This record gives sequence, C-alpha cells and structure tokens, in this order.
Amino acid sequence: MPFLLLLLLTVACLPVKWPAPPDWVESFGSLVLSILGIDTPNRGAFLGSTMLTWLGVALVTAMALAWTWHLRFRLARQPERRNRFLHEHAAWRFYHLIGLFIVYGCALYVLGWGWAAQGGATKGSAESPGVLGTELFILAPFLVGLVLAWAIFYDAERALHDASPAGATPYWSRGACILFHARQNLALVFIPVLLLLTVNGLPRLLPEQEDGSQFLASGITLAAALLVFVCMPWTIRLVLGLKPMPYGPLRDRLLAAAQRLHFRCSNILMWNTRGGVANAMVVGIVPFLRYVVLTDRLVSEMTPSEVEAVFGHEVGHIKHRHMIYYLAFLLLSLGVLAELEMVIRENANWHSLPDLSSRQDLAVLPMVASLGAYIFLVFGFLSRRCERQADIFGCRAVSCAQRDCVGHEDGAALTPRGHGLCATGIHTFINALEKVAYLNGISRDRPGWLQSWQHSTIARRVAFLQRVLVDPAAESRFQRAVGLVKWALLLGLGTLLLFLGVSWGWDALSPFPNSGPQAPVSAPDTGARTDLSE
Ligand SMILES: [Zn+2]
Ligand SMILES: [Zn+2]
Repeated sequence: MPFLLLLLLTVACLPVKWPAPPDWVESFGSLVLSILGIDTPNRGAFLGSTMLTWLGVALVTAMALAWTWHLRFRLARQPERRNRFLHEHAAWRFYHLIGLFIVYGCALYVLGWGWAAQGGATKGSAESPGVLGTELFILAPFLVGLVLAWAIFYDAERALHDASPAGATPYWSRGACILFHARQNLALVFIPVLLLLTVNGLPRLLPEQEDGSQFLASGITLAAALLVFVCMPWTIRLVLGLKPMPYGPLRDRLLAAAQRLHFRCSNILMWNTRGGVANAMVVGIVPFLRYVVLTDRLVSEMTPSEVEAVFGHEVGHIKHRHMIYYLAFLLLSLGVLAELEMVIRENANWHSLPDLSSRQDLAVLPMVASLGAYIFLVFGFLSRRCERQADIFGCRAVSCAQRDCVGHEDGAALTPRGHGLCATGIHTFINALEKVAYLNGISRDRPGWLQSWQHSTIARRVAFLQRVLVDPAAESRFQRAVGLVKWALLLGLGTLLLFLGVSWGWDALSPFPNSGPQAPVSAPDTGARTDLSE
C-alpha cells in the first residue's frame, strides 16, 4: 500500500501542466449549468471536470458502503463464519483501494481534474503550476475517498470484532480508528512526500536562476532533502505517537542484547496499534537519532526471547548497513535513470514515437512507470535478500556458542556480537516469524505480491532458516552470494552513471550530433529478473 500511494503521490506532485478536459466533459458541465439556469458558459469545463471527478469518488465510496452492509448482514446470520468474512473483508479493502486508484487516474488523465485544481478556470487559460500546496489540492479526491473508506469500513471491522472471542472488550471509536489510519499512512508516506515537495517546491521559491547559479539551487535542494532524511526518526516518532518502552524486565533484556551485539540506538519505542499489528522496525542512520520500534501486539503475544529475536532482526539491518546501501542504491539508480532519459531523448528517433511534447503529463509517465517497475523488480529483489540477512542476524542474536544445543536455560550465555548460530536460536526466530504471520492474518505461503515483494513469504523465509539448520554451509554460501550481488549492483550502476555522463557530455560537445552512444538496452540489473520467479 505505501508503495502504490508513493507512486501516486509522485505522479500528482510532478511539476507538470495537466491537460484541460476533453470537449464532452465541457459539454456535460455546460449542460448542468444551463439546467441550473446559470449563464456562465465558459465555466463548463471546470464544472464538468469537478463534478465528474467527485461523482467517481462518490461511486467508490458507495461501493465501500454496500460491502459493509452486506458483510454485517451476513455476519449477523452466520457468526460462525467470521474468519472467512475477515479474509473477504481484507480482499474487499484492497479492491476498494484499486477502484479508488482507477477513478483517480481517470480524473487526472481523462477528466482534467489536475487542470481544474491548478486553477484552470476556462479552457485555454494558461495558468502555470506555481503555487506550493497545489499538490494537496490535486490529491484531494483521492485523500477524501481514502478517509471516507476508513470511516465506512470501521462499521464492518467493529462487527467483526464483536463477533470475535475478544468481542467483550470495547472496540475503539470511529474517530480513534480514522486517526490511527491517518497517522500510519502519514508516517510511511509523509517523509518521501516531504522530500518530493522540498525538491519540487524549493526552486519555485528561489528567484529565477541564471545558468551558472543553477548549481547553487541544486545544492540547497539537496541539503534540504538530506536534512529531512536525517530527521526522519523524529518525524516518525511524532506522527505515530511513539512512546519509550516502559522500564521493566523486557526493556532491560533488550538493552542488554543491544550491548551484547554492540548496537547503539537512542531509544526503544512502543507503537500502540490497539492490538492491531504485530511488527517491528528500525529507523535512523546515525546512532544518536535511531529508534527500534515494536508494536504493542508483538510485545504482548510473543515470549521475551522471541521479542529479543525480532529485536535482533532489526539490529541486523543496521549491522549489515542496509539503510545506507538502500540510499546509495536509490540515488545511483535515479541518476542513471535521469541520464538514460536524456540520452534517449537526444538519440532516439522521436518522429517514430508518438509526439508527447505537447502533453507534459503523459511525457513524464514513461519515466515514472519505468521507475516504478525498476523499484518493484530490482529493489524488491535486493530487499528480499537483505531481509534474509537480517533474519539470520535475528537467529544469531539469541544463539549460544554450541551449534547443536537443545535449549537455553534462563541466563544461558549468548554469544557477543552475534558470533554464534545455534539450533535454539534458529528455532526461536522461526517461532517469532510464524507468529508474525499468524497475528497479522497474513497467509503463510500465499500472501499476495503486495505483501511479499519486499519481504518474501514467511514460508520461504522459514524454509531457508531450516536449510541453514541442517546445512551450516548454506549460510556462508548465501552471505557470499548476497555480498557479490550487492557490490555488483552498486559497481554496475556507478559505471553506467559515469559512462552515460561522460559519453553524453562528449556527445554534446561533438561536432557530429547523433553520433553518440546508443542507449544501453540492458539495465544493470541483469540476473535480478531471472530470480524473481522464486
Ligand atoms: Zn526487516
Ligand atoms: Zn544455543
């Protein structure tokens, strides 16, 4: 979900001039105006676009309402089928989201909503996309549809809760539920969007640049983006309302584990999801601004050693420097992609392609789509490998020095720095993984691609750990392979960046235009795609 939302926000926040609606939308608006007896004929396009956009949102919302009624009706008659309804509800929430995406896409690309939101009053008036905050306005139909859905699905979820064994405990209020969803989405999408807005909006605030001082503007933008990135843990803490883990045996145990593993963070925080989510994360690149976050459900349902294993998984992400690697990977990728686009623009025969120059909004689509596909394929591949590395570190965090041990007494000596890897440690982590799947209602082997593109399925992760259990060499083989892939990717991207940069620069200076390099067809991710079928 955050991934799709991010892509959508990226599209909506791009500094393009959205197209005016087609004639039939304008005719529709004029018709409504004439029926109402209002005589401002040139407002037809604006009114038609606005009305049809919000009609679409209303339709999707009605779909959510109909589903909620249908579910409550059936649940009242067959309370014993609650678990089945629960899964159906999750599926319907997803369909609703897809529906909202489609409606919103149509609004932007067909109905001219972007144009209307950017202040297009009459067809042909050329307002520039200049005002900061326009992005929010452009996003409004999507956001309103999303919030309405939370409010409506609340009734379904409440009915499901009441029919559950925990039904006696009071369910949270509608307001609290909406606020929770809003905060969660805000935190996971907020930072990247803030980055986008900074990068997007800063040049608008700076005075018009001469060619030479363009460099300065880029520098300021980059510094601002970096600042936002480093302050990310604070923002997430604030937006999610995270509280330090209360003093007690569990906190002491995790702090001791941190010390044993030589891991530094500024605090261990609890995320109150009202028993909704069992998960954990680590945020922050620098130790003095880094948090390990655990949800309430995770802590309440897992044994202390399982929590410690999950904690170890998060420590593993830092020990293997995943965050810094992701950042370098994404920056390099963006650089290569931008250069590729330039090279293709310079060298490709534009006449054989559909003319996109008149449609700024469509012209950026290939770029955004390829970025999306690239992130999904290559970053997904990379991320699944990194999760596996963190899984192994999670096992190591609760392992002793004896490889084939049969259990840990309380106070058993666990190895410092995660140097050991024992049977009990692996079993503890496997149990924790299985609980994460069970508690979150994730299917163990068929969770759907949206839930597994980054993490792989729980079944595969467990199967890998079980392989390590019987064949210790499997781990070192895996670590070597991952190391190789990671370095090859970075080096490949770096080489490509240099090569494209240099040859494009030469081409620009060359007296013979169009003698430059052909755009490389094979991306640096060779090999990555073949593995995706796993
Ligand atoms: Zn992880
Ligand atoms: Zn052991």
